[in-house]
Amino acid sequence: MKINVAYGQLPPAFFFTEIGERVSAYAAAHPDQKLLRLGVGDVTGPLSPVVLEALRRAVDEQGRVETFHGYQPETGAAFMKAAVAAYYERRGVHLSPGEIFISSGAADDLGAMGNLFSIRARVLVAEPAYPAYVDTSRMAGRTVLSLMGNRENGFLPLPSEDLDADLVYLCSPNNPTGTAYTRRQLQRWVDWANARQAVIIFDAAYEAFVQDEDVPHSIYELPEAESCAIEICSLSKTAGFTGMRLGYTVVPKALVREGCSLHDMWKQDRTTRTNGVSYVLQRAGEAALSPEGFRQNRRAIAVCQENGRILAEALRKAGLWVTGGRNAPYLWLACPEGMSGWAFFDHLLREAQVVVTPGEGFGAGGANYVRLSCFGSPTDTAAAAQRLLTILKKGI
Ligand code: PLP
Repeated sequence: MKINVAYGQLPPAFFFTEIGERVSAYAAAHPDQKLLRLGVGDVTGPLSPVVLEALRRAVDEQGRVETFHGYQPETGAAFMKAAVAAYYERRGVHLSPGEIFISSGAADDLGAMGNLFSIRARVLVAEPAYPAYVDTSRMAGRTVLSLMGNRENGFLPLPSEDLDADLVYLCSPNNPTGTAYTRRQLQRWVDWANARQAVIIFDAAYEAFVQDEDVPHSIYELPEAESCAIEICSLSKTAGFTGMRLGYTVVPKALVREGCSLHDMWKQDRTTRTNGVSYVLQRAGEAALSPEGFRQNRRAIAVCQENGRILAEALRKAGLWVTGGRNAPYLWLACPEGMSGWAFFDHLLREAQVVVTPGEGFGAGGANYVRLSCFGSPTDTAAAAQRLLTILKKGI
């Protein structure tokens, strides 16, 4: 057999297609009704003025022979690494620019990071989870164990003494649950990983949404994290770059396992498999992470945060259990007794014309929940909150 049969064992990639088909069928049958979409996890733009200026400047540079740039260093341009290092420094985290790798987005590096580990590495995923952790591990033929988040642990599962794994995927603030580990909670994962020589792959894609003082933006805010954690982050949600494609990954030099430097291995991997990220994009990223870029991007983030507050308030008033929406742009809503995520999705579409995401898309632990996204306009979100309150108060 020459084919990787693991691909055939993955769940079919029908989830978002199925949502799209159900929504399109409903919209076609009810052309007079306005649908309010709280389903997608995409930003709605536009890019901030400081980013647009940097893009225009970089494009002009590429049009003149004196300022033209060809290949960029595979692990990222020095100016972009310096911008990321300065961004961390403003949060009190000191990284050397050499520990930072510029990427085409978090998804790319989440998928490729598995290259550093053997097929026998036991992978643990805190679920419900962004599907890439489980799917890319299975594609590589690895065994995946789940540690379930649930109402009892506040969808923030913690390691126990007897928990055993080599590689752990954690996402905080979390997609889909909108929850986020406090410093104390995350320190338990760091201590557990260091004690067992495990490696944490920490997905910080939503760090920019953190509002609470005791929630870290980066795992490196915690002591000893540099000897057990890789952090993967992106400008997608921080600066509205989902359509631009730019991210960064930190692999500390202190991260050594079985005598191998994971930093050196990742450098080798990147210089072999990639030819770096476009000069123009990296100039845009540098501007987005500058203090002024950060200030301008805060406006879009503040809108999401306010949307989260309004939605959470309405859902609680309606008497439903909900979490998230404070440190992440998602809310995780328990379905009424006995209802599946898909059934609740259909109900909310039919009765309130509100589109959500069934929790089933994020693993078995999501089966009786739906995810609501905060990326919509304030007007649509307020209207959705009102509709949800009205229909849910009536009961199902
Ligand atoms: N990680 C999480 C938790 C996400 O929700 C997403 C995108 O929605 C990504 C990573 C991918 O981000 P990027 O656009 O940088 O590939």
